[in-house]
Amino acid sequence: MNISGDFHVHTPFCPHGTKDRMEAYVKQAIESGLTHLTFTEHAPLPAGFSDPAPTEDSSMPAKSVETYLKEAQQLKKTYRDKLVIQVGLEVDFIAGFEKETCSLLEKWGPRIDDAILSVHMLRSPEGKFVCLDYSVEEFASIVSIFGSVEAVYQVYYRTLQQAITSELGRYKPKRLGHITLVEKFIQAFPPARKFEQEIVEILSLMAENGMELDINTAGLYKEYCQSIYPAEKFIRQAYALGIPLVPGSDSHQADHIARGFEDLPDLHYAFPEGISNSSN
Ligand SMILES: [Zn+2]
Ligand SMILES: [Zn+2]
Repeated sequence: MNISGDFHVHTPFCPHGTKDRMEAYVKQAIESGLTHLTFTEHAPLPAGFSDPAPTEDSSMPAKSVETYLKEAQQLKKTYRDKLVIQVGLEVDFIAGFEKETCSLLEKWGPRIDDAILSVHMLRSPEGKFVCLDYSVEEFASIVSIFGSVEAVYQVYYRTLQQAITSELGRYKPKRLGHITLVEKFIQAFPPARKFEQEIVEILSLMAENGMELDINTAGLYKEYCQSIYPAEKFIRQAYALGIPLVPGSDSHQADHIARGFEDLPDLHYAFPEGISNSSN
């Protein structure tokens, strides 16, 4: 396996993760033989958006960002001979909150090396927001709010399309996170039809827009999913389209670093290019 880095990693600054220290992730990465690690903590949610997760713990509070960045900078220095550490954010794409997200990126973009754009929040047809990946019980209630499993999938893939084409300014993240996250509970709530066409469309839109794909192994360990986000067949398609494949464990605890990388197809994996420098 030619994978030398884990580029989707959380920290104790994530309120729904473990309290494992950032240094523990660094040590684990070195022990696993990695040369690169990127911290991508959940960025604070955009101004005016209230967290729909039942425990309201989807992201890092705004007051913690400064400490998070400082701690990462410190680790970068301390371990510079052993590991290339980059600091980034996993930024939510929330339909209707593009402007607020853009300001958030303007604020923190100059301070980070890399970022991931992810869809966790969906807007229901009635305008109510939900957090897609919170729990299987919550997913059941989302299905009833949207009317069907298929309706949830449809809105998810439509929101991803919006994310890819959205104008989020010069610091717009280049990498799209776990593009099949909607399948987290697929074995409990299987859709009546496949959404392969939608996934293929997402991939070609990503290629057109020069985005990278987060090859996310966390799904392998989710009780109702047990698959990489996205499945191998789509990883291969992305590769064929020339989309850079960037592996990430989405670890929320230190000993999950590089977890499942041995199950990834034997392809060429890329290093992240960093946050966008275009000025549109
Ligand atoms: Zn998380
Ligand atoms: Zn995520």
